[in-house]
Amino acid sequence: MINPTKIWSMTQLPSLPTVAVRLLELSQEAVVEQREIVQAVLTDPAMSARIVRAANTTYFGVRHDVSSVEQAASILGATVTSALALNFSLVEADADEPAGLTHYRNYWQRSLVQSAAATVIAEKMSAECVDQYSLCGLLLDVGRLALLTAFPTEYRPVLEAAANEEVPLEQLELAALGLHHADVGSRLMERWKLPAEIVEAIRWHHVAPEWLLARKGGSNFQLQAAMALASRAGDLICATRREPFFERLHHFANALFHWSENETQEFVAETELRAWRQDSLCQLETTPAASVLTAQANDQLVKLTLRSHVASVQATVRQQAAEKGTRDLESENRQLQKQALHDPLTEIYNRHFFDEMLETETKRSQRCASPIGVIFADVDHFKQVNDTYGHQFGDYVLKRIARLFASTTRTSDVLARYGGEEFVVLVSQPTEKGLERRCERIRSRVESEVFLFGDVRVPVTVSLGAVLAVPGRNERDLGVRLIANADECLYESKRSGRNRAIVKSLVDERERALLQQVLQHRFSRWLVSQRLLDVPSVSKALLDCRGEPVRVGDIALQCGYLDADQVMHIVKNQELTGERFGVAAVRLGWLTENQLIHLLSLQQENPKQLAGAIIRLGLLAPDKAAEALDDYLHSEAAHWNQSHAQQLVGAT
Ligand code: GH3
Ligand code: MG
Ligand code: MG
Repeated sequence: MINPTKIWSMTQLPSLPTVAVRLLELSQEAVVEQREIVQAVLTDPAMSARIVRAANTTYFGVRHDVSSVEQAASILGATVTSALALNFSLVEADADEPAGLTHYRNYWQRSLVQSAAATVIAEKMSAECVDQYSLCGLLLDVGRLALLTAFPTEYRPVLEAAANEEVPLEQLELAALGLHHADVGSRLMERWKLPAEIVEAIRWHHVAPEWLLARKGGSNFQLQAAMALASRAGDLICATRREPFFERLHHFANALFHWSENETQEFVAETELRAWRQDSLCQLETTPAASVLTAQANDQLVKLTLRSHVASVQATVRQQAAEKGTRDLESENRQLQKQALHDPLTEIYNRHFFDEMLETETKRSQRCASPIGVIFADVDHFKQVNDTYGHQFGDYVLKRIARLFASTTRTSDVLARYGGEEFVVLVSQPTEKGLERRCERIRSRVESEVFLFGDVRVPVTVSLGAVLAVPGRNERDLGVRLIANADECLYESKRSGRNRAIVKSLVDERERALLQQVLQHRFSRWLVSQRLLDVPSVSKALLDCRGEPVRVGDIALQCGYLDADQVMHIVKNQELTGERFGVAAVRLGWLTENQLIHLLSLQQENPKQLAGAIIRLGLLAPDKAAEALDDYLHSEAAHWNQSHAQQLVGAT
């Protein structure tokens, strides 16, 4: 007798190849990517070939010329691919053993009959997942296959006795081996991590109906009862003499499903018909070689498994085609979007994008009366570079210059190729000095860059023109005005000798003085003047807290400098005159110049928000930042009422 404890540790028990284990795992995941199935299958070339062949069977319903694992997996889906891998793996275990031919043949025949029986029962009960029943029927006697493969000498006589003596197999198994195949099969399935309901149904397929009925309330009773009955149908249909088995089958059918004798007879007939309708099943009798036999049996399994999946598989194929279409379209869109916004040669933004940004940014600076700048740059004597060293070298120069420009601009700037050898930068919130320094930096970087044509250093320089403006409230075509003025400055640099920058401010004297004052009173300036932070750190924090602009009128209202009537009056008047809010308020004598400066400085930069950004970026410790904010507000109180200032900071 086999030592029952020994069998569970036996390495002889067929173990699944890694690919089948992986596929089983995948088939149980809620969402499986097809790529993962394909990857798993591809690790085993023999399995790949079989699965491709399986997908080519006509049972799919639509004729497919499948030639790759990708196509196969997309047609079969995760569950079917896994089921196939499992069956293939078991057959592999002992495919070339001619002595056991009859036993293998019997095994496959029985499996097919049980699968057919399970399908008939599922349909009769209107079960939801007929597939599961058919698959479970197919795997019901997997323990027999395992025992046959692992212990051929001990197990073959048991199988022969069962066939000749018309005694139930499990009784003989228990007597001879001390265990039976339902136990072996369910333990294997468990080890292979099949769904628990399948494992359970396999474990109990040889128990008495009374025992099953005692568990009727359980969630898997239906499947378990169906498998017990399918197994009895297998006993009967595969026996040489059937009579002794019918009584037993009907006892099960009646106890579990209340079928009449007639119904049981109909069930047997229908099951037989289904099982034997498998055209090549008959040929199994005469096929001499075990390998051919198993191949044909495999085809049967393939067909059986596939047939029940026709509808869902077709739906999957359609869905996948639609999804692929969507994916292609999305990636095409992203590509088009990138193409639409970028210059292909230099990979910086193109003119189209620049124009859009110019529009957006001028509107923004119009709302909060903040300065905006444009820098134009044009390569000097570029035609000559092209003519002397060739167009390709010219392209190379343009690409390098674009990279230099990119390295000198801030993330808040917009850099674009405006045309041939012309570049443009949109600068938000610049100062006149800042703009001059920026232009000079670009000019000197290009001048000192080494461009080599072979061993020859080719001198390359750029001329620049820049403008700074604060848009009027009702001003139209500010963008056009900026471009025209920057272009004029550029022309001026060219005319006066090239390799230089001319910067022009379109801000009038009074406005410039006001801007200067506002700048002086900003929290960021104060932080730098107190040496609490350096300019780069403050710039970083400012970039981090750039929000939507708040209207001066709202701030003045919140701090109690103006009442609602006054604000309404100015706003109404603005529509006619286009006068800026602050200017009008001062003209009407409702705000002092100092108050306006502070309102504007708070509008351009909310100290509380800036302190938050400084803490967030770890530039100052929270207590230090709070202390700095407090000190700043106190120092500002010299200019106006401190409680107002604090109220304002809280409100904006
Ligand atoms: P200036 O100093 O007055 O700007 O002289 P320039 O020679 O640079 O100006 P011009 O406008 O006469 O010539 C510009 C040249 O730039 C002519 C054109 O072929 C070349 N160009 C424009 N786009 C490209 C390009 O994408 N690649 C190359 N290699 N050359 C280009
Ligand atoms: Mg030019
Ligand atoms: Mg040029």
